[in-house]
Amino acid sequence: MKIVTVIGNRPQFVKAAAVSRLLREAHDEVIVHTGQHHDDELSAIFFEELQVPRPEHQLHIAGGTNTEQTARMLAAIGPLLADEEPDVVLVYGDTNSTVAGGLAAAQAQIPVVHVEAGMRSFDRRMPEELNRVLTDHLSDLLLVPSETALRNLEREAVAGEVVLVGDVMVDVSMMFQPRAKAETRPLRDAGVEPGAFVLCTAHRAGNVDDPDRLRRLVDIILAVDEPLVLPLHPRTGARLDAAGWLDELAEAEHVRLAPPLGYMAFTALLTNARRVLTDSGGVQKEAYFAGVPCVTLRDTTEWVETIETGWNVLVDLDREAALTALQTAPPAERPQLYGDGHAGERVVAAIDALRRA
Ligand code: UDP
Repeated sequence: MKIVTVIGNRPQFVKAAAVSRLLREAHDEVIVHTGQHHDDELSAIFFEELQVPRPEHQLHIAGGTNTEQTARMLAAIGPLLADEEPDVVLVYGDTNSTVAGGLAAAQAQIPVVHVEAGMRSFDRRMPEELNRVLTDHLSDLLLVPSETALRNLEREAVAGEVVLVGDVMVDVSMMFQPRAKAETRPLRDAGVEPGAFVLCTAHRAGNVDDPDRLRRLVDIILAVDEPLVLPLHPRTGARLDAAGWLDELAEAEHVRLAPPLGYMAFTALLTNARRVLTDSGGVQKEAYFAGVPCVTLRDTTEWVETIETGWNVLVDLDREAALTALQTAPPAERPQLYGDGHAGERVVAAIDALRRA
């Protein structure tokens, strides 16, 4: 079968690492990189480190509002699909690239496969939530990471076929975390000791675009009472700079500012951190998998099982709640969530089954 895979941002490159190479063993895959994340540190390094095959098409579409960006992607992907004539279009997660790839394919009556389907934060203010819901309802094959996702889709009565495959990010964590944990260089570069620092990431529009919320985020970071490594997403860096707060963070003795890191350096820090403080979706799961308690700077999450098991706490941007959660001991039990590290194989098997259907 010929499969066009549409990806465009950092977490999607990580997810494709679990699938693309396997897919190419039996199928003809064409990767379209929309350009949503285009800097080397958010894009090229992931293709190299995680051995994701080089994209066949680069669309260079970045910037603008979500609506404009999605519209430009749709306009570019439509003709590309007419040229490539794939049997299937494969999309991941919840970004503008996901919904644009899915909608362009559905309009062309090409079956859509959505990996990481069924996730819901039930917060329609998040652009990601709109992208998830829309993509799920135009997909033919919905590959879900968890039982919760399965139930969400049952409730919404989606039209496509739903298959529980597990989480492809867990596959990548299983492949790379043990090796990354042994790497000492990223910790030395950040000036931190194993088990004696907090790893912090923040980039959600809801936390960094509004200056009042951004200030609350800065105040939480400044109040943390131990070394804190902060690899800055470009969006967050730009907002902090515009507000004049970047220097304040740079001057705080316990804050170690860093550029966005490659997957191996980031995973070395994640697996050795005492706690993770984040608003990222992917990082919440990776922390759980690494056995590092997570404090999430949001009031909802789509990864509800990490909360139910007690390994993740939602604190939004409440400073006292964040500081308390950073000191709370994790539970003794950490059940396996989101699969066994073979989700990528199940994704390929489900796509194979489409051919036979
Ligand atoms: N990540 C990384 N370097 C960083 C920050 C994150 O490699 O400096 C990885 C992280 O391990 C995870 C993915 O990027 O696999 C998460 O991406 P992000 O937080 O941008 O997106 P989200 O998961 O929130 O959609």
